[in-house]
Amino acid sequence: MTAKKNLVVIGNGMVGHKFLELMVGSNAAKHWNLITFCEEPRVAYDRVNLSGFFSGKTAGDLSLVAPGFYQENGIQIHIGDKAVSINREQKTVSSANGLEVPYDKIVLATGSYPFVPPIKGKDAHGTFVYRTIDDLEAMSDYAKNCQVGVVIGGGLLGLECANALQNMGLKTHVVEFAPRLMPVQVDDAGGAILSSKIEELGVSVHTSKSTTEIVNEDGKVTKMLFADGSELATDMIVFSAGIRPRDEIARDCGIAVGERGGIVINDSCQTSDSDIYAIGECALYDNRIYGLVAPGYMMASVAADILSSLADHGCPCHKCYKWARCPCHKCYKWARCPCHKCYKWAKCPCHKHFYWCGYVHETQTFGGGCC
Ligand SMILES: Cc1cc2nc3c(=O)[nH]c(=O)nc-3n(C[C@H](O)[C@H](O)[C@H](O)COP(=O)(O)OP(=O)(O)OC[C@H]3O[C@@H](n4cnc5c(N)ncnc54)[C@H](O)[C@@H]3O)c2cc1C
Repeated sequence: MTAKKNLVVIGNGMVGHKFLELMVGSNAAKHWNLITFCEEPRVAYDRVNLSGFFSGKTAGDLSLVAPGFYQENGIQIHIGDKAVSINREQKTVSSANGLEVPYDKIVLATGSYPFVPPIKGKDAHGTFVYRTIDDLEAMSDYAKNCQVGVVIGGGLLGLECANALQNMGLKTHVVEFAPRLMPVQVDDAGGAILSSKIEELGVSVHTSKSTTEIVNEDGKVTKMLFADGSELATDMIVFSAGIRPRDEIARDCGIAVGERGGIVINDSCQTSDSDIYAIGECALYDNRIYGLVAPGYMMASVAADILSSLADHGCPCHKCYKWARCPCHKCYKWARCPCHKCYKWAKCPCHKHFYWCGYVHETQTFGGGCC
């Protein structure tokens, strides 16, 4: 029996936690020391349903982690500790609290951060973003002394956020740079219908508005100035102007990132360093960041499948990893692609041919056909 190796997961959000659940489910925890760094002060929670916080859900209600899950499965979790650097020569990860952990493999699951446009005055008291439970706690505390709130950004998330401000009893405005709400999803006609529906709910919609300055008095937000010369008085502002991948830890250690950010991954979720994987919103696959949870879960499943295969069943030669475990977890029919980089190809059950593996690339089923 060989000694266990260290697999460090950086980021304990929705996708990082899903990856750990899959590793535990595949019995891979027997072969790896699973270690995870969680920057937030709480374990993974359901960010998709974050707005539920404003209708009474607690951090506990939103948690994705079954009580005792990490302890029972021998996963070391460092809550409230951010991984700050990776030393690829020494193969160690260092944390803000001063830990230095050796690794054999790393999975980066660092997610994204809300983009705040570089507007003069953007850091005044009374400006917020909408990403974490801490953000929502800070918003709801501040809103107690406010009458008016503005959301900058009229996308899906911005409208969700406007609903939250409205429910807190604030006179709510949405300010959108584009000529219509949800500019990515709907056309002009759809945008007009959407605006009228939103206004019927009591939220004022301002489209084609470019904010030039956020004015404050004694450090607190008082109004916004727009490029067309108009202004809007407000007590608080929430930015919902898109997300950017959190790729800083990869960038700092020389791993390839995209021109506009995001950690570049291949079909196996491997980064430019084959010992380091990236999954979820921090990962740039096919030149695209997926700001949704389902593609992140698919990446978690690809990475977990590969890493559990590496631990469980290396090549029968015991020297390389050409052979990977079948996703059915029962047989060894499946093998790595002859390109030696991805898992697109699998050996045909006829034992003579290689054929396309639908599992990793297309669906969750074991598709494909004999060549
Ligand atoms: C309000 C809201 C509503 C949403 N609604 C939907 C929806 O309806 N449908 C949908 O598909 N998606 C939705 N999303 C997006 C969805 O939440 C994300 O796609 C998903 O959370 C991505 O998971 P992730 O693990 O990649 O990132 P995250 O969930 O952001 O997790 C990343 C974690 O890593 C931590 N981290 C970062 N760097 C480090 C470090 N160096 N060390 C340690 N920890 C670190 C972060 O603090 C964070 O906790 C919504 C998001 C929000 C904010």
